[in-house]
Amino acid sequence: MRKNKRLDTIDKKHLWHPFTQMREWERETPIIIETGKGNYLIDTYGKKYFDGTSSLWVNVHGHRKKEINDAIKKQVDKISHSTLLGLGNAPSIELAEKLVKIAPKGLTKVFYSDNGSTAVEIALKMAFQYWRQRQTLNSNSRTKFVAFTGAYHGDTFGSMSVGEIDVFVEKYKPLLFPTYKAYYPYCYRCPIDKKYPSCKIACIKKFEEILKKYHREIAACIIEPIVQGAAGMIVSPPGFLKEVRRLCTKYNILLIADEVATGFGRTGKLFACEHENVPPDFLCLAKGITGGYLPLAATLTTNKIYKAFLGKYEEFKTFFHGHTYTGNPLGCAAAIANLNIFKKERTIQKLKPKIVLLSGLLEGFKALPHVGDVRQKGLIVGIELVRNKRTKEPFQTEERVGYKVCVETRKHGLIIRPLGDTIVIMPPLSITKEDIKRIVGVVCRSIQTVTGGYLVD
Ligand SMILES: *Cc1c(COP(=O)(O)O)cnc(C)c1O
Repeated sequence: MRKNKRLDTIDKKHLWHPFTQMREWERETPIIIETGKGNYLIDTYGKKYFDGTSSLWVNVHGHRKKEINDAIKKQVDKISHSTLLGLGNAPSIELAEKLVKIAPKGLTKVFYSDNGSTAVEIALKMAFQYWRQRQTLNSNSRTKFVAFTGAYHGDTFGSMSVGEIDVFVEKYKPLLFPTYKAYYPYCYRCPIDKKYPSCKIACIKKFEEILKKYHREIAACIIEPIVQGAAGMIVSPPGFLKEVRRLCTKYNILLIADEVATGFGRTGKLFACEHENVPPDFLCLAKGITGGYLPLAATLTTNKIYKAFLGKYEEFKTFFHGHTYTGNPLGCAAAIANLNIFKKERTIQKLKPKIVLLSGLLEGFKALPHVGDVRQKGLIVGIELVRNKRTKEPFQTEERVGYKVCVETRKHGLIIRPLGDTIVIMPPLSITKEDIKRIVGVVCRSIQTVTGGYLVD
């Protein structure tokens, strides 16, 4: 009790929390997490909560997973950090080999950084510099990018420039570089008919129009494959990603797959690109790479890209980019242990029945009067709450309906975080069937408590 009070006071005095209206935070009595075990978080009072967001989409096999704990401890006893600038280190080398082995084919080079935004930033910079060093006709004019409506790629200026969620980027617009925006099917601001399959077809058509007209100025296209995360867990219709790949190849545009959120099993496959057998030119990985333990990211690319950076020193074709903690041995050791668990526990194979169970349970939400849409891919779920089910009229922002639902679930031992009025469930892959049933029940009841809606049957 006293401990919590003390921490709360200091937190309010000195901390500035991410993506948080601090005036609201100052009025709250926050949950302060002290320990974790398996899929649960435990606060300073000893109260247990299911980690329904995987600690912001990162945790994979649960907290305090023995193999990952041991791997980090073992690495600490060897060395915690040495630089990759002019030196090698063993865990970063071992991990690179493993990543190349499991990644979509053609991706053979690994560039490390510390988070998703930088993984994206690096892909953008590499794609841009690639064209400047290709020295073929017109390659210097390829200075722009194509991104999608509803895209989220991180919070640094480069990644914001290819992002498209207004509340996140609007204020910085004068500082962002111009980017072509194509339509992501069924995304929240899609002006094209949202019906299936016309939306997909219309979006592809618009996408091709952009490429056809501007391909000489476009360096690369960046996409969140299969699921757009921050937009509200928007699942793209089958075949969309494949078409994007086909058109990028046709117009000689590099494809960047931002799998920061979708990577490492979330969608039911190790990488979302596998759903449509799409090999990207760049693969951005972060969040789940260390099993949710440490900040580590990787940008994978092809030999073709890599070769354009080779030359005499004085030609300055070097990729002049590198974060101080690049290839951190502790992070890499955790990532290796994470990947070993996937293999040993057959994590991906074991997901199937969990995903099927979850799909079945989610059917029940569709009858709720304020549920406008239920989206799922693998263990990623978005439940969109609306004022009017028929017209899809949203709730007012100030009603804070999504937020209130997530406050309610906490009373029942479940921590989740909404995206606007979309309730997100994104549990660790190690979730049990019992917990799936329990947390879906809690979410369902909490939605009813907050929106006053009852099952109509
Ligand atoms: C979270 C996220 C990022 C940014 O990652 P950070 O580690 O927060 O910088 C980028 N892209 C996608 C798709 C994400 O979900």
